[in-house]
Amino acid sequence: MFAIISDIHSNLEALQRVFDDIERRGIETVYCLGDIVGYGPQPAECLELIRQRAKISLCGNHDHAVFYEPLNFNVSAERAAFWTRSAVDEEQDPERRNRLWKFLGSLAPRVEIDGMLLVHGSPRKPINEYLFPDDVYANPSKLQSNFERMEQMTCFCGHTHVPGVFVDDPYFEPPEELGPSCRYTIGGEKVIINVGSIGQPRDRDPRASYVVVEGDEVEFVRVEYNIEVTAKLIRDNPYLDDFLAARLYSGK
Ligand code: ZN
Repeated sequence: MFAIISDIHSNLEALQRVFDDIERRGIETVYCLGDIVGYGPQPAECLELIRQRAKISLCGNHDHAVFYEPLNFNVSAERAAFWTRSAVDEEQDPERRNRLWKFLGSLAPRVEIDGMLLVHGSPRKPINEYLFPDDVYANPSKLQSNFERMEQMTCFCGHTHVPGVFVDDPYFEPPEELGPSCRYTIGGEKVIINVGSIGQPRDRDPRASYVVVEGDEVEFVRVEYNIEVTAKLIRDNPYLDDFLAARLYSGK
């Protein structure tokens, strides 16, 4: 049994409540699909917690932007990326500062483990490509070529902050279509499973999203957290746009 988390976006309050939930379930193995930082107010704390608790951590586009440079970011995301860089640089303890930079620079773009592919974005463009639910209708060839690129039967991703399961028809099943247990059973077909976002969900449910995997069963989990704690830190930070606080309440 293991948990897969993604898109924390420096939201420590949400991340801690998710780790509480993971601990309560007795789960020891956690994989993180990236975007540990960006948008939110507590990057160093989130990096340190993920460094300690996640067995594997991937590189998301926001982690990449902070360590290298922001590419195709909007103004508020770019400002947040530069502020994140300075926040890690301002860590007082030089050992901790170096440890965080080293960790950020060591994140892998894609990992294969136990026959599963783990990426932040998509199988063919692991850091930056978005697979949106609407692509099923608007851009089915994008999904098809990603399924073709997969040598594995199962891929887990994040990036869009919208949880659910892509099958290669193509079709997208959101967790609410999976019945009251919110479980999907992996069968004989290829699937790309988006685990949703811990720190900035965008499916109109503001609770933190992650998945628990046990055998072939994938459970979509939501965890409530105190949004006001994170929102206030964002509003109090002149480098982070107030919109980034407001969107946490609406989950979009
Ligand atoms: Zn993200």
